[in-house]
This record gives sequence, structure tokens and C-alpha cells, in this order.
Amino acid sequence: MASPLRLLLVSTPMGPIGQGLGGGVELTLDSLLRGLGARGHRLALLAASGSQLAADLPVTLLQESGVPQASWQHTDRDAPVTIPADGLLPRLWQRALGLQGDYDRVLNLGYDWLPLWLTGVFRTPLFHLVSMGSVSTAMDEAIATVAAGHPGRLAFHTAAQAAEFALPDPPRLLANGFDFTRYTCRGQPERVLGWVGRIAPEKGLEDAALAAARLGWPLRVWGLREDPAYAAMVEASVPAGTIEWRGFQPTEVLQAELGACAVLLNTPKWTEAFGNVVVEAMACGVPVVAYRRGGPAELVEPGLTGVLVPADAVEGLVAALPAALAIDRLACRARAEARFGLAAFAERVERWLLAQPA
Ligand code: UDP
Repeated sequence: MASPLRLLLVSTPMGPIGQGLGGGVELTLDSLLRGLGARGHRLALLAASGSQLAADLPVTLLQESGVPQASWQHTDRDAPVTIPADGLLPRLWQRALGLQGDYDRVLNLGYDWLPLWLTGVFRTPLFHLVSMGSVSTAMDEAIATVAAGHPGRLAFHTAAQAAEFALPDPPRLLANGFDFTRYTCRGQPERVLGWVGRIAPEKGLEDAALAAARLGWPLRVWGLREDPAYAAMVEASVPAGTIEWRGFQPTEVLQAELGACAVLLNTPKWTEAFGNVVVEAMACGVPVVAYRRGGPAELVEPGLTGVLVPADAVEGLVAALPAALAIDRLACRARAEARFGLAAFAERVERWLLAQPA
């Protein structure tokens, strides 16, 4: 074990943790805190006030209030960097600047311009775990600048995600880690399909709904209703009763309900940086039928944990169902656990943080 580090993690400027506003970053944070805590590191998390963390996380929570940032993925690609009045983002980073002397490393989980720009300003080494692919010209440029000047400070989840950026060196890929003790595998599923994600256009719920309608199977949907107009449009596009809305649920509830699904459909329209929900389904023994695009294409192992079909091909989703149903659910979970365990993830993160001298 490396000697313990004092680590300051800085959360997303999208809002408080615990409501799904931070998307996959919320679970990534939970995993980082559990995994790095188990390795003896001393952890503090700076996050939006009102954040709710699991009670058993080994971390000191520091909170800042302020107006959240708009999501980059729902902003025009060529839009300028904007920060609202009373903004949460500058408050978080002003606090981090003031606190840096108490820490050995600072780790940024937010996908935003300001922390990237601050890389060369901080005296304590500042690292960035990039949580999305390319969605903005200004962000692409900020990431490319850090990659050129401080290449060791950037890490990505998957090769497909990193390939979207201009990086002079091979990227550091960390995948992600999951606490498999929080997920259980159910033997006999119900005759129902599952879909999990923020209800927003880049997640492609309409394709899964259409596939479910063609199959005549119900589609159970979990996730934050980020775009209500989009949700209504998808619901109207399929016969009534096709979609069963389950809302946003904490991991304990989500995993218990998700485990009842025969198969998870994963149909993103963008380059998913990782795809937490794909691994969470596998952890419940639920095979995944996913588009061959972005992170999920690196997560699903055909025949073992799911089936990959051509991106945007609804008929491919439909045709893949029998092969997905034939997958051994216990073996699916075991394979996912071997690849995406928490301990190995924390070790990869630790190696990254230690590769750069303070
Ligand atoms: N999620 C959840 N409860 C729900 C639906 C989703 O906790 O009811 C979480 C899920 O566990 C996952 C995240 O939302 O960690 C979505 O992350 P993903 O990487 O799939 O996509 P992102 O939202 O980051 O684009």
C-alpha cells in the first residue's frame, strides 16, 4: 500500500449529490471514496450544499452553495463558457484554492472549463477525471491544453471517450469501479425489459421504447426526468402501457428492481464516456443489449454479458433478444465483477495520482 495521501475531491457543479443531477459522476464519486478510503487515504469532498452521501462513506463533506452550471451536453457545441451570477462553480474552486495547502492532491470530478484552466495555477497538483466525451468546442480546447501542458493530470473512463479529444500521448484509462456487495443477482427474471438513464435526448430512450413495442414486452424505465418534453414525446411514440416509469431511485432500490428485468436495453445517441448503468445491470445478473458505440461497446462482452448491435438499429435490438435471454445470469455478474471491481479501480486511481510528484 502507498503511504496515505490527503485528498481533496471536488464534485460536479451541476448541483447537490444524491438526486441524480450529476449523472454517473455521483456513483463514480461514491466508488472513489469507498475504494480510496479502503486504501487508507484521508478524504474530503467539496460539493454543493444539500448533498446527500451514503452514511458509511469515509469522507469529510465540505459544502458550498451557489447557482448550478447548465449542462454542457445540452448547450450548443460552439457556445461560449458561461457562469451564472452567484455561481456554484467559482465558489467551489475558490474554496479549493484556499484549502489546497492542507492536501497532497486535488481531484476534480466536474466536467467544466474553470478547473481545467486552473491546472497550472494550483500549487497542489490538480487532477481531472473527465466524465464525458466531446460535446463542446471550448471544452475540447481546454482539455487539449491540459493534455499538452500537464498530460499526467488527465484521465478518462474508456478508449472511445478519450479518442474524442486531441491528446498528444496515449490516454490514461481508468474504466470505473463498482461495489458489487451492493448488487444482488436474481435467479428468475420477469418478462420485462429494463432501461436506466437520465431521461434526455442523448440517451436515446425512444429507440428502446420502439424495440419494446415491436417485441410486445413492457419497458421499465428508471432515471431522472431531465427533459419532461422529451419524456412525453417518447411516451406518445409507443402504445400506451409500453413504458412503466419508475423515477429516480437510490442504488439500493434501483438494483433490487432492476434485477427483475430479463434484459437491459442501452441505446445512447452520443459517445457515452463509460455507461455505469451497463455494469450495474450486469452486477444484477441482467444481460445488456447495447448499441456498438462509445463506452458500452467496451463494457459488453458479446455472449458473456450481453449483445452488441449496430448503433441506431432498432431492428438489431429486437433481433438480439433471444441471444441475450440465453446468457447465464450468474456468469454475467461474475464476469462484470472480475473486470469492474472497486478495489482494482481504486488501485488504478491511486497509481495515477502517485505517478505525478507533488
Ligand atoms: N441512477 C440512479 N437511479 C436511477 C437511475 C439512474 O442512481 O433511478 C444512476 C445510475 O446508477 C448511474 C447514473 O444514474 O450511476 C447514470 O450514469 P451513466 O454513466 O449511465 O450516465 P450519465 O448520466 O453519466 O450520462
